[in-house]
Amino acid sequence: MADLLLRSVRLPEGSGPTDLLVQDGRIAEVGDRAGETAADVESVVAGGRLLSPAFVEAHLHLDKALLLDRLTGPADSVEEAIGATAALKRSFTREDILERSERLLRMALRHGTLFVRAHAEVDPILGLLALEAALELRERYAGLMTLQVVAFPQEGIQAAPGTEGLLREALGLGADAIGGVPYVDPDPRGHVDTVFGLARKFGVPVDFHADFSDDPSRLTIPYIAERALAEGYAGRVVVGHATSLGGLPPERLAPIAEALARADVSVIILPATDLYLGGRRDSHNVRRGLAPVARLRQAGVNVAYASNNVRNAFTPFGNADPLEVGLLLIAGGHLAARADIEAVFAMATVHAARAIGLTDYGLEPGCRADLVLLDAVDPWDALVSQAEKSLVIAGGRVVVENRRTTEYHVRPVSNAHGATSRGGGSVAGSRQG
Ligand SMILES: [Zn+2]
Repeated sequence: MADLLLRSVRLPEGSGPTDLLVQDGRIAEVGDRAGETAADVESVVAGGRLLSPAFVEAHLHLDKALLLDRLTGPADSVEEAIGATAALKRSFTREDILERSERLLRMALRHGTLFVRAHAEVDPILGLLALEAALELRERYAGLMTLQVVAFPQEGIQAAPGTEGLLREALGLGADAIGGVPYVDPDPRGHVDTVFGLARKFGVPVDFHADFSDDPSRLTIPYIAERALAEGYAGRVVVGHATSLGGLPPERLAPIAEALARADVSVIILPATDLYLGGRRDSHNVRRGLAPVARLRQAGVNVAYASNNVRNAFTPFGNADPLEVGLLLIAGGHLAARADIEAVFAMATVHAARAIGLTDYGLEPGCRADLVLLDAVDPWDALVSQAEKSLVIAGGRVVVENRRTTEYHVRPVSNAHGATSRGGGSVAGSRQG
């Protein structure tokens, strides 16, 4: 594989511009003299732009993405969204799932994402159709994107008899993780136990959709944290949504946040869906429906965020763009300080990578050269300016190039004397990324 030298890049935690050399698909050297001795190397002059490890979508639904044109109207609650999607699932075919999944993967790729954990629905409606499609895509995209496939029982395990056997089959076929969604079953703790039992049997990590409501009175997350420790699963459990935790006063949240930190259970915020479906029963002073990002982070919990759903009943918008979703999190989570916004950038990169157990991820020598070059000088700038992802680099190879060009065709504003500041000519300017 050809080597690549990225010259004059800024790193997320670095200060001045530096250079980065890629050899054999991995980062070989970082520093001002990187690549000095390398011969025959293709080089990109980055002009001081931000180079980051590629984005990680730690929680994404490929199989039910891009369904807006089949829905009769917007969903009013989580339950309605699940019901509307279950009805549509009956007509899914393998080709249909593959076509929409690939369209979404290309959207993600365009926005600098090279790592995706995909929840594939496993239930008596679809059987293993969606899971097999996801496994097929994992192979097809190997070498370009890293896909992890979660066997995900969206319709429940107790509520949809036959699902446990299907989950077992899914894990036998090579699913990377087992999913769970305790809030759709009558016995949420029993659901959690079944999921951990399967996880242990197949030696895979666990990824729950959990406590997705505005009501903090019935929580499953404390039990998940307890099981994670008891099962020896510290660091291998993730909970997505966790919005109910946002309804807890600080003194009740504190012990739960500590338990999550102790069991090293990561929390994945899904801001687009959480903000869209949260607070639907409130007639006024509508709640935000977001997990308490800042308080969880203060307690030492690994917090990440992801797109979750794109253009379906759960989230009728979205572009699989981590910067766009990050901006929703900044507003929804009141994350205004520069350090908070820098942390948001880390939540779609290093923290997300940690949540789903990626190895060799980062900018250290030896890490895989899966990178994104942004038209920004630092993570704050990237999020606030919604920077273009100039280059997406997979295994040291440029796989996507984006350009954003603006031309103004306007006259300057007149001053008080009726004369224009530059003599009345039109102004044309452009910015190229
Ligand atoms: Zn989800």
